[in-house]
Amino acid sequence: MKKKTRLIHGGVGRDPYTGAVSIPIYQASTFKQDGVGNFKYEYARTGNPTREALEKLIADIEGGSRGFAFGSGMAAITAVVQLFSAGDHLILTDDVYGGTFRVMTKVFNRFGVDVSFVDTTDLDKVERAILPNTKAIYIETPTNPLLKITDIQAVSKITKEQDLLLIVDNTFSTPYWQTPISLGADIVLHSATKYLGGHSDVVAGLVVAANDKLGGELHFIQNSTGGVLGPQDSWLLMRGIKTLGVRMEEIEANTRVIASFLAEHPSVEKVYYPGFEEHPGHTIHKNQAGGFGGMISFTVESEEKALDLLKKVQYFTLAESLGAVESLISIPALMTHASIPRERRLELGIEDGLVRISVGLEDVEDLLEDLGKALEQHTPNILKKPAHI
Ligand SMILES: *Cc1c(COP(=O)(O)O)cnc(C)c1O
Repeated sequence: MKKKTRLIHGGVGRDPYTGAVSIPIYQASTFKQDGVGNFKYEYARTGNPTREALEKLIADIEGGSRGFAFGSGMAAITAVVQLFSAGDHLILTDDVYGGTFRVMTKVFNRFGVDVSFVDTTDLDKVERAILPNTKAIYIETPTNPLLKITDIQAVSKITKEQDLLLIVDNTFSTPYWQTPISLGADIVLHSATKYLGGHSDVVAGLVVAANDKLGGELHFIQNSTGGVLGPQDSWLLMRGIKTLGVRMEEIEANTRVIASFLAEHPSVEKVYYPGFEEHPGHTIHKNQAGGFGGMISFTVESEEKALDLLKKVQYFTLAESLGAVESLISIPALMTHASIPRERRLELGIEDGLVRISVGLEDVEDLLEDLGKALEQHTPNILKKPAHI
């Protein structure tokens, strides 16, 4: 089965009880037992047919053994980290999602889970960071906002040799473009709030285990700690996933055009887009993923200029998040990465004038015109002051 077909016919396909082509929302918390212990579903934290259909679908499209749906991406990440114990050490990509950094350094540190943040694009640095108590390597590729690329297969070689788990946050690429389990990952996770949902209307997280053993452990944690996704949101996600292929293809085409436009624009200094041959991770990404995705970051001269751009755009909505039908725009230094001290931010390459866009499904000509107008030389306001001042 090809990818676009699997997005529609994968998992359980249609409702096994009624034949409904759209899996119904089983808005039920408990289920009648035919006798004590004789049941298909027991209690909806443990299992609900709508959620289970979504979990089977994501396991199928990621090529894993078992899937799990959570109330947010952070709840999914939390459940995965709960596989570990006090005294364990994890290695994480140094520019992981801000919420992942926060939960590791402000919550799980209190439970004795140690972490090192490492530039995982550099395999020597990854190997040197491994300690006797290291249990896993957790990567994001491409990263946010600079779209750095880590070689999944090369890291999986290290994790297999050293008997560690490889965990991949696949939010940016989605399983339509990249399936980390096929490259050696043990666990894949998502903020399904982004491309999988795709319509800015649901917050959700998904986890896929590559094998039954990890699947069993994750189900135990999901059922014990209870951060499950409700049936209505599970249904919304399945609905979103059906169009993931067409959305990702269209976003890919729009993004290429916009990245080239930005690269040639005189007001734009640098453009970060893995689809460019000059991007340091271009070849690795090309070998491990089918598309470059819908994220572009670029720098303009100053924070003032970036703020001016945000004010002028009409179709790029100023908002956090990404991966939806509408194009979004943000300034990482003032928004998602504001909590990082400026000096550290600059070290990471997150300049004051860095702008991040998530390309949506609008007509690309409108998007180009919008950006073009907004990037026109900023004329000082003095000229527009009323005469009496
Ligand atoms: C948004 C995001 C998360 C967190 O997901 P939520 O659904 O917001 O809890 C984790 N990882 C990445 C890469 C994200 O973009």
